[in-house]
Amino acid sequence: MLVKRHYSWDASRMPSSVRTFTYNSKTPTNKLIADVPIGGLFAARICADHFEKVIVVEPEAWTFTDEARQPANFDTREVKTSTGIYNTWNHKRSRVYQYSAVHFYQALLLRFARRLFPGFDSIAKSWGDLIRPLDVTLCLSGHLMRPHSYVETIIAPRRNIEPLIRKVVLEGTPEIEIIHGTVTRYQLSSDGSVNVVNVRLGNGENKDFSNCALAVDCTGIAQSGVKLLSRVIPTFPSDLRQTYTADIVYSTLEYPVPPHFDEDLRKLNVPGMEVDGMKSGVLTFSASPDIDNRLASLLRCDANRVVFTMGGWAVDMPVNLQEIREFVKGIKNQNHVPDYFYKVLDLLEPVQHLGTVYEARVANCYKVDYARAAKVLPRNFVALGDSSMRVNPRFGQGVSKCAMGAICLDSVLRQMPPSNRAFSKSFFEKLTTRTTAVWDSTRLSDYAAPGTNPIPGETHETGRLMRWYNDQLIKHVENDRDLAQTLHHVQNFLAPSTDMLSPAIVARVLWGAFTGKA
Ligand SMILES: Cc1cc2nc3c(=O)[nH]c(=O)nc-3n(C[C@H](O)[C@H](O)[C@H](O)COP(=O)(O)OP(=O)(O)OC[C@H]3O[C@@H](n4cnc5c(N)ncnc54)[C@H](O)[C@@H]3O)c2cc1C
Repeated sequence: MLVKRHYSWDASRMPSSVRTFTYNSKTPTNKLIADVPIGGLFAARICADHFEKVIVVEPEAWTFTDEARQPANFDTREVKTSTGIYNTWNHKRSRVYQYSAVHFYQALLLRFARRLFPGFDSIAKSWGDLIRPLDVTLCLSGHLMRPHSYVETIIAPRRNIEPLIRKVVLEGTPEIEIIHGTVTRYQLSSDGSVNVVNVRLGNGENKDFSNCALAVDCTGIAQSGVKLLSRVIPTFPSDLRQTYTADIVYSTLEYPVPPHFDEDLRKLNVPGMEVDGMKSGVLTFSASPDIDNRLASLLRCDANRVVFTMGGWAVDMPVNLQEIREFVKGIKNQNHVPDYFYKVLDLLEPVQHLGTVYEARVANCYKVDYARAAKVLPRNFVALGDSSMRVNPRFGQGVSKCAMGAICLDSVLRQMPPSNRAFSKSFFEKLTTRTTAVWDSTRLSDYAAPGTNPIPGETHETGRLMRWYNDQLIKHVENDRDLAQTLHHVQNFLAPSTDMLSPAIVARVLWGAFTGKA
């Protein structure tokens, strides 16, 4: 993506509470971001407030169609496995592997979208998405979480959220131009900054974009930034990427909501139906892998569908209601998989032939430690989203992580222009501060699974203290509603994870651990 010329920041574009900042740069400059969703769309929207022209490079032709800016309307295709047959979404977003996987989002994403896109809630609702309290009946290793209240989130499948974001970003921001192509090379200027970006266009031609002001890598797991920079910077460290492998699997199974579903849930005494006679989730059972390698949840997918997520570490992936029953019976802590869960499965029997399945395998997670390479990085290069970090999707944090990257970018752009030598360094320091907890909590949890191969230099023992503390802490989420509320905010990225280490909470957890009283 290229941006031409910084321009005076227009305070009317953002809520008045956002601090305004004006650049005084008059030099014509360009900027490039490689590839769009979802991090790239967020970054483009942020950059449109700071630059005159934003050029986005997207390799996937389908994203230029009208269909890619509308609620998804895909048909299905049959998949034959060794044990049977199921239907899956026949989507057209071939470069995004997880396009038809269930996606779950934290409250931060909704707050971010509301501030950037006027009228976001009503557009989302008109697409059939839900905006409602995050009451998912979260059961952590057998302890039902009971905060005082639930924050609001957006509930929409990935195949709807991506086109929605594409529409609100591209149709509301004339500064952004999208080009069909792939970034193939960066050329650096004498001060080491990215000056020219070479793009292979969709028609096969090569085109150079010169006077680049800021290059933003948002290529997801392709992580093009690492490859492009290592080709032009001889001293670029070869060990910036920390990777561990893991046997992370899960299937998501979507079903249309049968008639009277919410009424029937109420008759089954599903807890928490009192909010508005509906629930965002019937059950979300999650445990540390040293307690149980199975995870299970049944959530709303949007206004008209529900979705099961069944999986964990090195487990089978159910692909129909009967296999879900068997899978859930295998969960160790049966006391906390309530009977009503099985009855809800019965309610879905009449629509089981309409179900769709997606099987996910994630073999590795990584972090590119750009902050460590600050001295050799071009001052005008940043990376966000999965191009800088990919975590276990079990925790559903990837899209909010893109929003965090965009917030960091906005914050640094308010402090200095990318011509400042400290720009890239400041960005990656901020990003590290914001996302380290995401990386540490997911990685150290995955280390408890025997099939995980830790990063070189770390072992399965790494993080044992953190896991012990978490195991003790979650024993309080049922009875200590203040503690549950704090955790609910931390889980939704509305409070820092260090809040779970406040003196009051540490004292509570240690007292519980040593007295055996929750
Ligand atoms: C199975 C699964 C389930 C998930 N569930 C959730 C969830 O519940 N909640 C959540 O928040 N997150 C979830 N995630 C993570 C989330 O999907 C990602 O974190 C998020 O999409 C990252 O956005 P991004 O913009 O960085 O990358 P992407 O969305 O992957 O976009 C990458 C872009 O790069 C382009 N591209 C691809 N290959 C190349 C290439 N070789 N060269 C150039 N460009 C390329 C693509 O066209 C695309 O435009 C899940 C991930 C997986 C795998």
